[in-house]
Amino acid sequence: MNSRQFNSLIEKLLLRAENQPHQPLYYFLDTRGREYAHLTYASLLTAVQKLGRWLSEKTVSGDRVAIQLSTSPEFVITFFACLYTNRIPVPLSSPNRKHNCEHYQKIFSDCDASLVVTDASVQDLFVKESSETFDLIETFPSLESLEPLLTPVDRQSNEIAFLQYTSGSTSFPKGVIVSHENIIANQKMIQRTFGHTSNSIGLAWVPLFHDMGLIGSIFQPLYVGFPCYFMSPVTFLQRPKLWLKTISDKKVTTTGGPNFAYDLCVKRIDPASLAELSLSSWDVAYNGAEHIKLHTLEQFSDTFAPYGFRKSAFLPCYGLAEATLIVSGTDKSQEPLALTIPCSGDEVLDADASQQKGNTRTVVSNGQVMPELSLRIINPQTLKECPSHHIGEIWIAGPSITRGYWQQPDKNQETFVYRDGLTFLRTGDLGFVDSQQQLYITGRLKDLIVIDGKNYYPQDIEETVKMSHPAFNEVNCAVFSVSGTYAQKLIVVTEVVRQFALQIDRYTDELKQAVQTAVYNHYQLTVHDTVLLQSNTIPRTTSGKIQRQRTKLLYLLQQLETLETVKESI
Ligand code: ATP
Ligand code: MG
Repeated sequence: MNSRQFNSLIEKLLLRAENQPHQPLYYFLDTRGREYAHLTYASLLTAVQKLGRWLSEKTVSGDRVAIQLSTSPEFVITFFACLYTNRIPVPLSSPNRKHNCEHYQKIFSDCDASLVVTDASVQDLFVKESSETFDLIETFPSLESLEPLLTPVDRQSNEIAFLQYTSGSTSFPKGVIVSHENIIANQKMIQRTFGHTSNSIGLAWVPLFHDMGLIGSIFQPLYVGFPCYFMSPVTFLQRPKLWLKTISDKKVTTTGGPNFAYDLCVKRIDPASLAELSLSSWDVAYNGAEHIKLHTLEQFSDTFAPYGFRKSAFLPCYGLAEATLIVSGTDKSQEPLALTIPCSGDEVLDADASQQKGNTRTVVSNGQVMPELSLRIINPQTLKECPSHHIGEIWIAGPSITRGYWQQPDKNQETFVYRDGLTFLRTGDLGFVDSQQQLYITGRLKDLIVIDGKNYYPQDIEETVKMSHPAFNEVNCAVFSVSGTYAQKLIVVTEVVRQFALQIDRYTDELKQAVQTAVYNHYQLTVHDTVLLQSNTIPRTTSGKIQRQRTKLLYLLQQLETLETVKESI
């Protein structure tokens, strides 16, 4: 049985629904952490077959079906019903005030969706905002009266399984074409790296429409055969303690999120309120999707070690939608590794030297690249391979590298390039490999700031700004450069915490001076302009990543609502 080759997740579902029909696969928790629904393998399959009937009446094989549903049984059922009937699911976040209907209309037309499955509140929003897409939109139907569609549509493993829109950190989200074989190849890698078995117990609060939630928390439990609990992202953001409490209550072994989630726990949870909890079951605390900070890992383990958390549970990992998900991950059960490297370390880097001269930054290892993948570190200017210990663009080839973006031939040509007999994905991320073959991510090529021939990473300068004054504590910041007459000019856009924002007249000079001094002291760089904004106004993706390029565009168009202009308009 173990040696059987699976070509798709639907094959897994069919087999498990036959062999272990009543075993629960997904549990759904409400805002208080109470279970309000669950799906066993058999109940999931039946629901999928019923919805499959509905889908096949509304669409034809190969149609794109956008899914705008919250973390719920309906989301999971719709996704798998698409795979079952060979429709191409396109999981998306839902419109709110920030990401309005127009944004989603663009995505519907980008992927040429034939149907959007959503709930009544989202449907209402679309009706109010736009009549154009209204015809496409349907609410999830009642399954009761539907006759199950007993036979799934046959599929080849190289066929398209779904479209994964990228987060949109650097540009408008792009629809990555993920095939069944990409999924299966990546599932194997995740299982091996995370050490998942049928005894694992998962928990997820990350959005299901992004790759970490979908591939890590919906696919992996089905692929390996273990249960997973789900809570909504909003519940986590409002009550991070519930994440830890659920780990303790349900004896969860595997759960994680981006670096900010661990920071949020440290900032918002009073450890004294955890007295009854035990985090000792937590075997894999994955951390990915964003820059990983050593400081966060240390603070989190110091804070929660008394409650059973093991630092060795941390599993920093790197991945991206274009590679299905995981590309590299650290050795399970090993404490995170970190290196100190030069801050503006433009090129050469002696990764073995522990004593660096000048300003330094600490980077956390993302472990080794999966053995099934080929890695090259390429100088983005010369396109020559970098010698070891040099920072360059990360290029990856292998079975989980997707075939490209939906209907974007030009972008595909730039991003997926043929070299040494393989098709490599240019990740757009910069990094290096040390003598232990550990991959370190230093930042994104598009966001890199080059001033006087030296490279600076915006996330470092943003951290410096945040530490420079209490007014910048726990708010967002975006740093970028703009072209000046002679050189690039550094711009800092930062939010200001409410208590200071309310008296901005009094604080403006002090805050701008604090930014100027801190950045100069750390990097010997002059800040050309500091823009102060209200909290939660810097553009971010639906997964919370800072959109530096978008912030820069708004800055250049003078469309940022600075605290001064907000005040004037009151
Ligand atoms: P877009 O491609 O639309 O600009 P995005 O790159 O944020 O958005 P995703 O595919 O969801 O979209 O995210 C993958 C990116 O997240 C990676 O390319 C990398 O920049 C960043 N990332 C992922 N894991 C890590 C990590 N461990 N450390 C640093 N950055 C990471
Ligand atoms: Mg990307």
